Amino acid sequence: MTDFGLSSEEIQFRDSVRAFVDREIAPNATRWDIEERYPREMFARAGALGWLAVGFPEAVGGSGGGPVMAAILNAELTRGSAAISLGLYVHSMLASAAIHHLGDSDQNARLLPDALAGRRIGCWGYAEADAGADITCVKTRARRDGEVYVLNGAKLYITNSPFADFMVIVAVTDPARGLKGMSLFVVERDLPGVAISAPFRKLGMGASEMAEITLGDVRVPAANLLGPEHLGFVAALKVLSLGRIASAATAVGLGRAALEEAVRYCGQRMQGGRPITRHQFVRFTIADMAARLEAAWQMTLHAARLAEAGGDYDCAAAMAKLFATETCTHACERTLHLCGAQGYMRDSAAQRFYRDCKVLEIGEGTSEIQRETIFRHVGKN
Ligand SMILES: Cc1cc2nc3c(=O)[nH]c(=O)nc-3n(C[C@H](O)[C@H](O)[C@H](O)COP(=O)(O)OP(=O)(O)OC[C@H]3O[C@@H](n4cnc5c(N)ncnc54)[C@H](O)[C@@H]3O)c2cc1C
Repeated sequence: MTDFGLSSEEIQFRDSVRAFVDREIAPNATRWDIEERYPREMFARAGALGWLAVGFPEAVGGSGGGPVMAAILNAELTRGSAAISLGLYVHSMLASAAIHHLGDSDQNARLLPDALAGRRIGCWGYAEADAGADITCVKTRARRDGEVYVLNGAKLYITNSPFADFMVIVAVTDPARGLKGMSLFVVERDLPGVAISAPFRKLGMGASEMAEITLGDVRVPAANLLGPEHLGFVAALKVLSLGRIASAATAVGLGRAALEEAVRYCGQRMQGGRPITRHQFVRFTIADMAARLEAAWQMTLHAARLAEAGGDYDCAAAMAKLFATETCTHACERTLHLCGAQGYMRDSAAQRFYRDCKVLEIGEGTSEIQRETIFRHVGKN
């Protein structure tokens, strides 16, 4: 990967993350995946390194940087382990980012220092049994009662929820107003009425943990409403669309891990006394993977730079997310194919990549939702 156009500061940051990932994350990734347990200490370590605070201003305890740094971070972390990267991403770029962008100065001062240092862990509770790609279907209700809101509902597939200290929950405050009747709340885990299910077992992302959150008459202080009542979710969608750029970077990182594994394996795998890279099919497959991943990375950097420059990045982010995630799935599938039976074994990296990649096309807006967004921009007469 060329990383053409990165500044010296960005290259230095990339190299420091890469060195940590190669030393501390990649060698453990397969074991963590098989154990199906998130190494909780990773939050404190990432916090101490300032990685949970990338994209947050120094005034709130942030490390500075913007979407480009966040893209570099996500790509490098995911190269080591997509599941570890997912847990940190949900905490930092969804839960903490929602607090930062929608919260007032009191909420920022009260909630962010511990979150950005990795002392308290957050999760993002949007999805429900009937609310996924269609964001208008949320049913969890929040009813004002004096100085509290009373929350009732259930949030499904929530990453980090088995161990999160706080949750950012999307709930309907005015059913008559549709999308403009949804608000965001910070819900502390230990409030009466909060119940977390046993962790779910999944196809991939083994080390990341997810569960269902049930909210039964949970009394949340009004001081924990984030942003304007009724319009919090709309405001969050705008801000959190930066997450699509980070998701694209995540996909590039996983695709790069697959590419490296294909190069390593095919260079060592001997058939008839010679490495299988003597076959044109193998060389061309690897070349195609590399070319597509390079394009995906340049699209990701383009969207990140647009966002950093204050431009309209909506379409560029959707294109990068769509292309990078589908490119990643292609790269992971091809790597498994090239690694043959050895790649199919439970302790191989290739099979882990193959199982991890698919969710990237589903989360943060499915590929179909990205296509709808792109058409809205390019399909105008
Ligand atoms: C590993 C993992 C981690 C997750 N972590 C979180 C988390 O931390 N927090 C959270 O809130 N959620 C999380 N989710 C859930 C995620 O938000 C949803 O999976 C996602 O929103 C898609 O919703 P769905 O799965 O219900 O799919 P559905 O909405 O049922 O969609 C199924 C299919 O139909 C298509 N489709 C649906 N509606 C449309 C449409 N209008 N136009 C075109 N096509 C459409 C979709 O593209 C998709 O292919 C996670 C999911 C997974 C798998």
